Amino acid sequence: MSLRLRATKKIPRGEEYDVVIVGGGPAGLSAAIYAQRFLLKSLVVAKEIGGQLNLTDSVDDYPGLGRIRASDLVNKFKRHAEMFKATIYYPEEVTGWERLPDGRFRVKGKRGLDVYAKAIIMAVGSVRRKLGVPGEREFAGKGVSYCSVCDAPFYAGKDSVVVVGGGDAAFEGAILLSGYVKKVYLVHRRTEFRAKPFFVEVAKSKPNIEFVLDSVVTEIKGKDKVESVVVKNKKTGETREIKVDGIFIEIGFEPPKEWFHKLGLETDEAGYIKVDEWMRTNIEGVFAAGDCTSQWPGFRQVVTAAAMGAVAAYSTYNYLVEKGLYKPQKADVGGTIFER
Ligand SMILES: Cc1cc2nc3c(=O)[nH]c(=O)nc-3n(C[C@H](O)[C@H](O)[C@H](O)COP(=O)(O)OP(=O)(O)OC[C@H]3O[C@@H](n4cnc5c(N)ncnc54)[C@H](O)[C@@H]3O)c2cc1C
Repeated sequence: MSLRLRATKKIPRGEEYDVVIVGGGPAGLSAAIYAQRFLLKSLVVAKEIGGQLNLTDSVDDYPGLGRIRASDLVNKFKRHAEMFKATIYYPEEVTGWERLPDGRFRVKGKRGLDVYAKAIIMAVGSVRRKLGVPGEREFAGKGVSYCSVCDAPFYAGKDSVVVVGGGDAAFEGAILLSGYVKKVYLVHRRTEFRAKPFFVEVAKSKPNIEFVLDSVVTEIKGKDKVESVVVKNKKTGETREIKVDGIFIEIGFEPPKEWFHKLGLETDEAGYIKVDEWMRTNIEGVFAAGDCTSQWPGFRQVVTAAAMGAVAAYSTYNYLVEKGLYKPQKADVGGTIFER
């Protein structure tokens, strides 16, 4: 069997699918694997394959795989979806859909995608907010991280790191990192915190966490990797250069809230698509999975995204059965072994 991804280069136009999955990250590809296993005819449409995994080097917390290069993990997801014959179309950006009088969705994309779907799974992820300072882009993945939970173990035994932010993620990150690194600087632009008081108390009780308040990071410096961070006190104007091995930017996510609202999807205050425990949105026949949802806020991982994708596919299958719309595809996977 070919190792090539079954990516279709012919623009899908006019075809009908049981489900169109928007997004080719862990949530979307996991949804595709499960949808195909439920014998649904599914189409994955994605701007690119891999999502946020394309922004990191290694992953060492996906069960069963140990430490793996992120690009290899993406390939494994892709090949697995291929094994179940999911159709994947990229690069394409879904612009929206309309609901037709017969209940189906007409889904359109920027490059000409125009297909019909009985159901939709939104798995479009979310973008981590950036500081926008010199050095940030240059050292991304070389000491600049946006995910303490993901990357803290890579800093075991290091001298010091900076964590930026004042919310739960920043505090959780600082507390976690204080167990791995000798010194953690928590830089926050105010003196008040959005984080839960409990996290603040725990962080304050750690002797190796130093609070640098009323301050902002103005530059990230280094040669091949991060070596120091310049911090400016907003009140006094004083600047200080802190020697560090890394900087963790934990200042939140930016889900495409306005687009979700335009589509009629209900979101929480932060802009994540509201889902119930079965990944159902407020629109019948539209499900959502992964980092774009309100599920498990503050804990956004490959394993949680993949889990949500699987649940969304299962719910799609149940929805189609309940509506009398389930017409199983011919099962032609027959005993294929994944590792080749
Ligand atoms: C630097 C970094 C390091 C990380 N390290 C780890 C780690 O070690 N372990 C871990 O578990 N997690 C890690 N994560 C988090 C993990 O990558 C995410 O939680 C996970 O990728 C979320 O999967 P997702 O499928 O929900 O979204 P994403 O990965 O964001 O994928 C979204 C997909 O939707 C597509 N898309 C968006 N809009 C459209 C549209 N309009 N039309 C078509 N396609 C669209 C995108 O192209 C992409 O394919 C890390 C994240 C970052 C940024």
